[in-house]
Amino acid sequence: MGFYTGALIFILGLVFGSFANVVIYRLPKGKSIVRPGSQCPSCGKNILWHDNIPLLSFLLLRGKCRFCKKKISPRYFLAELISGLIFLLVYLKFGLTANFYIYALFAFCMLIMGFIDIDTYLISDVIVLPGIVLGLAFSSFFPQMHYGMARAESVLYSLTGIILGGGLLLFLGMVGKLLFRKEAMGGGDVKLLAMVGAFLGWKCVFITIFFASLLGTVISLTLIALKKKTMEDYVPFGPYLGLGAVISMFYKHILFLGFLIN
Ligand SMILES: [Zn+2]
Repeated sequence: MGFYTGALIFILGLVFGSFANVVIYRLPKGKSIVRPGSQCPSCGKNILWHDNIPLLSFLLLRGKCRFCKKKISPRYFLAELISGLIFLLVYLKFGLTANFYIYALFAFCMLIMGFIDIDTYLISDVIVLPGIVLGLAFSSFFPQMHYGMARAESVLYSLTGIILGGGLLLFLGMVGKLLFRKEAMGGGDVKLLAMVGAFLGWKCVFITIFFASLLGTVISLTLIALKKKTMEDYVPFGPYLGLGAVISMFYKHILFLGFLIN
């Protein structure tokens, strides 16, 4: 677990963060995430490749478009930085094991869904539904993601996570949809929690809700105190669930070595 590997992993995380920004911006609009290249949201000019370097370009251009000089949201910078840190922290925790790929992917999806939820108040089905299936599949092929569990136990642990995290409400929502031909329940947060259960197991569903509620309360009260928000403002819960899930992802592996989860 060398310094250079860590630095490379961090840079890889930044590049993924840059890609995350494209997905966050385009997925809710139904645009292709592959083509064309990135454009300035204000003037529509293509962003030059050397102005598209994670973190650095934002700093060098002082957060402004090269052509129209309009401000670029610091969010792009923030998402890249968070992605880099996620990759680095997951690497420091797991080394280059299967767990690294699984949990980096999981946290990366939480990042994308959190930002899309902030923008649109929606949890993206395109990510969360395959995510649920993938979490279960990984639990089957890589039982080491739930320390010390045999394959069957690991699958069951993930499956109960899905059921607890959202299965019941998801099921009711789907029945409602079939019966009434319309969305009976929003259920985005429920699906997100089902994905958390699929990847982290049912106990982490509780830990995630705990941290998400705690962070949601503290941050909302802080924003209200700073007069950035009022009590009436709608606050998407997805970003807090995502953050809570990533915290409990690390926390779970501490607990696994202890006695609380086992
Ligand atoms: Zn521009």
